Amino acid sequence: MKYTCPHCGKKTFTPLQKALCGGMSSSGKPCPACGVRCVNGKLSLIVNSVLRFAAFVMIIIVYFAHEPGNKKQVLLFGVVPLIAAFVLGFLFDMFIGRLTEAIKRE
Ligand SMILES: [Zn+2]
Repeated sequence: MKYTCPHCGKKTFTPLQKALCGGMSSSGKPCPACGVRCVNGKLSLIVNSVLRFAAFVMIIIVYFAHEPGNKKQVLLFGVVPLIAAFVLGFLFDMFIGRLTEAIKRE
């Protein structure tokens, strides 16, 4: 299973390569066929922003709502959402989002 390069239209990106291209603010990775740098598109940006925002909100809530001295609770609800947001965003880039040509120069 490979993903289509937005520039040359060839199926050149594996899911892992696609995820490692990064988002629209990164300089991306070159397509093996045409060399044009590609990044994950707008939908990836939106999904990642929403995930990070959700994790951030959860951490704020935990910060105020956790039982004093309950470190396990803080770890579970303060760190896990961050990791989950990162992993879900990565999986989204791997399997769902579409690639687009990088705007930013190296
Ligand atoms: Zn290409």
